[in-house]
Amino acid sequence: MTARPVGTSALAPNYHPLPVTLTTGEGAWVTDTGGRRYLDLLAGYSALSFGHRHPALVAAAHAQLDRLTLTSRAFDHELLEPFAQALVGLVGPLLTGRSHLVLPMNTGAEAVETAIKASRKWGYEVRGVPADRATVVVADGNFHGRTTTIVSFSSDPDARRGFGPFTPGFVSVPYGDARALAAAVDETTVAVLLEPVQGEQGVVVPPVDYLPAVRRVCDEAGVLLVADEIQSGLGRAGATLACERFDVRPDLVTLGKALGGGIVPVSAVVGRSDVLEVLTAGTHGSTFGGNPLACAVALAVVDLLTPGTLQARARTLGEHVGDRLAGLMDDGLLTGVRTIGLWAGIDIAPSVPGAPASGRELCERLLARGVLAKDTHGGTIRLAPPLTVDPADLDAALDHLETALTTP
Ligand SMILES: *Cc1c(COP(=O)(O)O)cnc(C)c1O
Repeated sequence: MTARPVGTSALAPNYHPLPVTLTTGEGAWVTDTGGRRYLDLLAGYSALSFGHRHPALVAAAHAQLDRLTLTSRAFDHELLEPFAQALVGLVGPLLTGRSHLVLPMNTGAEAVETAIKASRKWGYEVRGVPADRATVVVADGNFHGRTTTIVSFSSDPDARRGFGPFTPGFVSVPYGDARALAAAVDETTVAVLLEPVQGEQGVVVPPVDYLPAVRRVCDEAGVLLVADEIQSGLGRAGATLACERFDVRPDLVTLGKALGGGIVPVSAVVGRSDVLEVLTAGTHGSTFGGNPLACAVALAVVDLLTPGTLQARARTLGEHVGDRLAGLMDDGLLTGVRTIGLWAGIDIAPSVPGAPASGRELCERLLARGVLAKDTHGGTIRLAPPLTVDPADLDAALDHLETALTTP
């Protein structure tokens, strides 16, 4: 092995993490190699919505580790059907159609790819779209993952540059503008794919009438509404699905992140049976999708969400966070605040005396004060604490935020 000069990394540089090395985590708190504790306001981009090592999730994982961890889908296992039934029980009533199916995958991007494939195949087989002509309408500012097909319809130059040639068949329109979306739908359209709230874009919440208008466009044109709820779903937005907050039922939904409880990658497409039925044996798959360990954890996640208490908690705590952030906005310390559930996007005001020059600098200041957060881009920071966070801890972190907005 070639010796590596001290201080250089063997990692590809596709991330620029804050300078902290974590060793342990419990609930909303993590500890670094120096024994310092931090409140985690990023929560793994919502993959840790139930906190670090939630006891019920860790117990489910431990129990399954001692039984069976992988079968591949070549063979069945005891938890696959119960997992699908439980997820349909939780999410099915929030979707269109009377009967629903689950297609398990691992990462979010795979769930989005699966939804695109199902929509296209449904478009050809059921809607009679001419072969290889299917289009999917998406929105500017989207984030749906990092595969070559998905970055094909990203509007972020960093996500695209150098990765072409791109997959055709996508039309992007301004987010929040239902007329522009309606104008982009034609006889080749099979689906509209949207985040009900754009998380990576900085928690961009659309106008209240946007998603209902999109639903009407989809109904009139007979195309699918696919909601990417990988970040917004499973409690984050103060409901099981963010779509509920807008009284809209999608035809298909992609779930991920929190579905794996911060323990294993678990994603899924849940949707109308008549759509997902087009993916017959041999047409799509995944070696790890629906594995026993994943199902054990995800079943425990569904159990956590079934009473609705965590969703309500996200709403209540979120209102409090929203009030406090609105106060910072009134004081001129922020130039933008967007919240839904326990999820906030804030824009810093760099012209304020003592203000951080960038979102990155604000996160570095917060780190020094024992709070973990991450900028999305430029001067925008997303706050997504675990839904289980202690209200007093959350308030203390917001105090730190207030100070860090004016004090290095
Ligand atoms: C994170 C995210 C994805 C991609 O998930 P990965 O597990 O990183 O592939 C897709 N869609 C949305 C809305 C996301 O937030």
